[in-house]
Formats: sequence, C-alpha cells, structure tokens
Amino acid sequence: MTATTMTPAQLTRFEARLRAERADAQERLAEFDDAMTAVRLARTDATADDEHDPEGPTMTQEWSQRSAVLADVRAELADVDRALARIADGTYGFCANCGKRITVARLDARPTAELCIDCARHVR
Ligand SMILES: [Zn+2]
Repeated sequence: MTATTMTPAQLTRFEARLRAERADAQERLAEFDDAMTAVRLARTDATADDEHDPEGPTMTQEWSQRSAVLADVRAELADVDRALARIADGTYGFCANCGKRITVARLDARPTAELCIDCARHVR
C-alpha cells in the first residue's frame, strides 16, 4: 500500500492550509497592486521636474523593493497552486525528484515542498 503518504484527514488539513495561504497571498497581491498604482501615479506627477526631484531616488528604491516583494508573492502563489494541483492528482507528498515520500513533519513546516529532505539538500 504505497498509494498515499498520509491519511485523508492529514491531506484535508494540508489542503485547507494551502487554500488559506493562497487566499492570503492573493490578498497581499491586491494590496500591492493598489500600492504600485499609488507609486506609479506619484511618479507620473513627479516626471515634470524629475531631475531636480529629491524624492526621485527614494521613489525608485521603493518601487524596486515593492517589485521584488510582488515577485515573491507571485512565486509563492505559483507554489501553492502547484501543491493544490498535486493534491488533486494524488501526487502530493511525494518527492518530485526521487518519488519517495516527503515526511509529514517537513510538509508541516513547508506545505509547498516538492522535494524530500535528501533531494532538497542535494539539488541546487
Ligand atoms: Zn527525493
């Protein structure tokens, strides 16, 4: 009996957790979209006197920081989506590299883990 790495109850628990993380990430994405729009508008206002604008560099810095965070949230969302897809097709909890089971303890720490602890150590 090697079909599943965990009990249906555990799987349901991970699915609920992943869905909650997904909702949370989407909420943050929406917030960032609003913030990015605000920054964009502020930049547009400043273009008239860009060269002499003391706020210029700060604005650019804030912009790139926000962009980096946004990329992180998008990546997280993609991870969560892949994990949910794996739950749907029954491959959740198995290592994408060697096919062994990923321990529940590891998934508890990182529900989107695609690799077992051994492969995670050796890959990249
Ligand atoms: Zn592995």
